Amino acid sequence: MSSPQSPSRDSRRGNESDDDYYVPRTPRRTPMACIFCRGRKLKCDGRTTCANCQKRNLACTYVPVSAQP
Ligand SMILES: [Zn+2]
Ligand SMILES: [Zn+2]
Repeated sequence: MSSPQSPSRDSRRGNESDDDYYVPRTPRRTPMACIFCRGRKLKCDGRTTCANCQKRNLACTYVPVSAQP
């Protein structure tokens, strides 16, 4: 009455894609206008070179919020 070694049922792990799913979060920046748009009160799209500056071939410059008084 000797039973052969029964294969131990080990729960298979590793096929779960429920691990820590890393979602690259982009830091939320406050929408701010570049100097040109701010001065003219235009709607700035916030790009590196916004549409207004691009249209006028201007250098799009942003002033960091921390630099404000
Ligand atoms: Zn702009
Ligand atoms: Zn601009």
